[in-house]
Amino acid sequence: MKKIVLLGATGSIGDSCLNVIRQNKKHFHLFAIGLGANLDKAQKIAKEFNPEHIFVAESNIDKSHDLLQSYPNILNTEDELQELIQDPCVDIVISAISGFAGLKASYFAIDAGKTILIANKESIVAAGDILMPLAKIKNSEIIPVDSEHNAIHQCLPLQRNLNEISKIIITASGGPFRKKTFKDLSSVTLEDALNHPTWNMGTKITIDSATLVNKCLELIEAHYLFQIPESQIEIVVHPQSIIHSMVTFIDGSSIAQMSNPNMEVPIANALSLDERLSIDFEGINFSELNLSFESIPDGREIIFEMAREVCKKKGSLGVIFNASNEIAVEAFINKKINFIDIYKVIQRTFEHFQCSKVSTLEDIFEYDKQARIQAEKVIKSLH
Ligand code: NDP
Ligand code: MG
Repeated sequence: MKKIVLLGATGSIGDSCLNVIRQNKKHFHLFAIGLGANLDKAQKIAKEFNPEHIFVAESNIDKSHDLLQSYPNILNTEDELQELIQDPCVDIVISAISGFAGLKASYFAIDAGKTILIANKESIVAAGDILMPLAKIKNSEIIPVDSEHNAIHQCLPLQRNLNEISKIIITASGGPFRKKTFKDLSSVTLEDALNHPTWNMGTKITIDSATLVNKCLELIEAHYLFQIPESQIEIVVHPQSIIHSMVTFIDGSSIAQMSNPNMEVPIANALSLDERLSIDFEGINFSELNLSFESIPDGREIIFEMAREVCKKKGSLGVIFNASNEIAVEAFINKKINFIDIYKVIQRTFEHFQCSKVSTLEDIFEYDKQARIQAEKVIKSLH
């Protein structure tokens, strides 16, 4: 029985993880959950799964909430989170907090040498230079949950010989604005951007999918996770979201991983440490399948150029790229800027900084802070 700490339990990935765990109760015990502020949902989860511990990041919580009847000792501080993750009885940490806020949890899990299932791509993008070498030193296994990266993980042979890989092809649904020209994007609304054609996800990643910044984050994530140069990573738009990614080998064979778009599939794979898990899923109806592929829509090249620069130069560029995007997305969600301004905020913030070396997690937090301040300045300058 593997003991799991699920961080981001009240989110969209959290829901999917719980569905997989629910169907495989004999293999897993939900040892602890972590969340931001949604105590009502945490209470429902606690009632069903009875975890030993609950971590709530928000410090200003309702002390009279029913959840505190059964859990008077809710964990709240960063030290408590670290202690929880480091508990020797924990086998698996699922890192599914949204955004840069998830970095500390990913760091604690890797530093403790745990098996970490990583959904929080922002951790890898912002701090790949710190986390990947640390994972090697601490013998922590990082298993990707992001559907594309989990697909690549499944396509690669166990004895990964990087010399045998010709290229990795990451697929993209293209999001809700695939058919729009860059100029058309000046009139899209928040509601339009939240209307993703194939995936049902949290708000931040849904906006990232609409801008295609999600694919940029995934390019950087793949570069770090699989240690593949960006020149060997291709992005192709595949609107049906059936093929989640592919690997082409030097002998000309391409291997693809397919499923209907449902995050429970990559999560079940990531959780299947020894053997495949059984889950209830809707199989692909192959006789009705029409797969198509196309290039990234025009006008969005600049963000991919920045993402490729992050891969080539690394250092502080990943955290700057990520922070500028988070600030821009937040401003767009709060209706302070237009959709198309997101690109301006990222580009102008990114161009403001030189690439610097990062040696510690503190360096990452410092560059994150500076990039956020600069991105806010850019937003002010837009008005
Ligand atoms: P959601 O917005 O649905 O959920 C976010 C989760 O993080 C919630 O449980 C939230 O808690 C929690 N949270 C937010 N801030 C904090 C904090 N400071 N400390 C602790 N917990 C916090 O996001 P998703 O589930 O969509 O995404 C989670 C991660 O997975 C992201 O990094 C995303 O990029 C990645 N991902 C998501 C996919 C998807 O299909 N959704 C696909 C691939 C990757 P609360 O709500 O209680 O405040
Ligand atoms: Mg993805």
